[in-house]
Amino acid sequence: KQARRPLMAGNWKMNLNHLEAIALTQKLAFSLPEKLLSEVEVVVLPPFIDLRSVQTLIDGDKLLLGYGAQDLSPFPSGAYTGDVSGPMLAKLGCQYVVVGHSERRAYHHEDDALVAAKVKAALAHDIVPILCVGEGLDVREAGGHMRHCIDQLDAALIGLSAEQIEKIVIAYEPIWAIGTGKTATPDDAQEVVGGVRQRIAENFGGPTAERIRLLYGGSVKSSNIAAIMAGPDVDGALIGGASLDAEEFVRIVRYNE
Ligand code: PEP
Repeated sequence: KQARRPLMAGNWKMNLNHLEAIALTQKLAFSLPEKLLSEVEVVVLPPFIDLRSVQTLIDGDKLLLGYGAQDLSPFPSGAYTGDVSGPMLAKLGCQYVVVGHSERRAYHHEDDALVAAKVKAALAHDIVPILCVGEGLDVREAGGHMRHCIDQLDAALIGLSAEQIEKIVIAYEPIWAIGTGKTATPDDAQEVVGGVRQRIAENFGGPTAERIRLLYGGSVKSSNIAAIMAGPDVDGALIGGASLDAEEFVRIVRYNE
């Protein structure tokens, strides 16, 4: 675990106006010392329309914050009204992109094949996909959570090489814990994240499994992050609601202090 740099990624979803997005990025930059940012990787994932300004702030001032987008098209260009492509995001300097978030799977009917195509599209443009997997409450109550997550994982990673897998970040996000205030227990998080690492080892080899970073997401707050991060396979968190509050997000990033 020591060899894997912790990653805290803030998924802003469809929130904040443009000025607020700029202000939040500035507040994070002011509040997070460079030494801490060299130890914990901090990434913001704003709405598309804020990316240019976030890029200007972060790249222009050489801030040690990372940034990325919340979705991308599986296609590089063409007649896809309303979509944003990997080359467009790469041009904006995005290092990360969320793929397979449960909200997109539910509200935009994204299936496993589309998620797999988006993972490939991101990698093709040197953008790290943050691949989300996770079960709903019905699956969890029936005890099928591990099978469900492994199936989503296998489907999304089909046809990739071990070298490509190492670049990916995977987030376990139980749907029943997203935005509900119900956090998975640290043991729940470790169980699935550990199962994901084991599956990566089976399919892509032990060294790849040791290097890939795995996150937990779902109602992460400053009050529960330290216990979640204690899981030996948990390398960070994908944070929704709590990432919109600069002070709270900074407390999460400082989980180890
Ligand atoms: C998310 O949607 O990625 C998420 C983890 O949201 P929240 O932290 O608000 O539960």
